[in-house]
Amino acid sequence: MASQFNFEIAKELPNGLGRAGLIRTPHGDIETPAFAVVGTHATVKYLTPDEVRSTGATVMLSNGYHLYRKAAEIDAAGGLAEYSGWRGPTMTDSGGFQVMSLGSGIGKVVSMDKRDIAREQAKSAKKDRLSQVSDSGVSFRHPTDGKIETFTPEVSMQIQHQIGADIMMAFDELTSIGDSYEYNVAALRRTHAWARRCLKGHQKLTAARADKPYQALYGVLQGAHYKSLRRRTAGYLGRLDFDGYGLGGAFEKERLGDILQWCNQELPKTKPRHLLGLSKPDDIFVGAENGVDTFDCVAPTREARHGRLYTLDGNINIRNSVFAEDDSPIDAECDCPTCQSGLTRAELRRLLKSPESADKETAFKLASIHNVHFIVNLLKQIRHSILAGNFIKFRDLWLERYYKK
Ligand SMILES: [Zn+2]
Repeated sequence: MASQFNFEIAKELPNGLGRAGLIRTPHGDIETPAFAVVGTHATVKYLTPDEVRSTGATVMLSNGYHLYRKAAEIDAAGGLAEYSGWRGPTMTDSGGFQVMSLGSGIGKVVSMDKRDIAREQAKSAKKDRLSQVSDSGVSFRHPTDGKIETFTPEVSMQIQHQIGADIMMAFDELTSIGDSYEYNVAALRRTHAWARRCLKGHQKLTAARADKPYQALYGVLQGAHYKSLRRRTAGYLGRLDFDGYGLGGAFEKERLGDILQWCNQELPKTKPRHLLGLSKPDDIFVGAENGVDTFDCVAPTREARHGRLYTLDGNINIRNSVFAEDDSPIDAECDCPTCQSGLTRAELRRLLKSPESADKETAFKLASIHNVHFIVNLLKQIRHSILAGNFIKFRDLWLERYYKK
């Protein structure tokens, strides 16, 4: 029943794109804009479900590719929310990005700087891919056992229905920043055909599994940095019966705002939109301003494990010797459980640099809680500023302080 999933807009920005709203799912509500914490393998690394909740996160995104060999087991456990112990709203991505990035042509999803682009183009030129894209789907050699596997739209839907997240993504072809316009046209045609096949598979599975909670399906928009392709795909997918939309693709960071405008001006306003794989604060502000409702990214936890911590005055690397005697909390204004515990920067640094693996794991946990809370809380504050009518003022003050250094 689609009524188990819906989206309401509470307030819009004057530009008619950005908004604060509410997504209702069978496993709970998501106030938007919101950050989805990433639990690739159904768990957020080093955090228990309770610790994830302590960050204020309201939704978890897991990965269709990393979970596909466990899909039947997750299904038997009652779906991702139950299997993971998270019990709140969940999302999965289609696995398409991971199987295609086994090929050498594709790197990070979005938001690249010039150096990333050069690297991508060099890799793309080599074309020694482990994955092969055809009209039927993507075949790839599994990196652990070498078995040849094929992901198709139908396979992706089957896997995602078994995993049972509240929100799923259609299987799409992500192009690389090194791909030509002509290649992007062909890939987009494939993505549209795959979108129709995903919808068909999804409708069949929804009917066959009518005893399960309703799962929403988002169509995914590609089209790189081409305005005509972005508008075309948004118009095309916008007319199909998706519950929401995922915004993907590889493009330069500077183009993010334009690309979101091209897509979101065409998409139906009444359906939620998810931006795949971004969490840098400047990108988040651009996203929220231009109509993105949810975000996800592995960066907050991955950076935490490397000692890179977010603060309102910019990021710090806690491994740096300047913090060896620093008795202040990670961020004096942060109300996450780590900062509230009285832990100092010097103590966290010692744990992270300790030869004992138990100490290191404690550091990973404490740092991850802080970083996830930082981004989750930023989205909450953005939501409040939209509701209060002072988004632009909040954005300018926040970014000025954060990027001052
Ligand atoms: Zn904190």
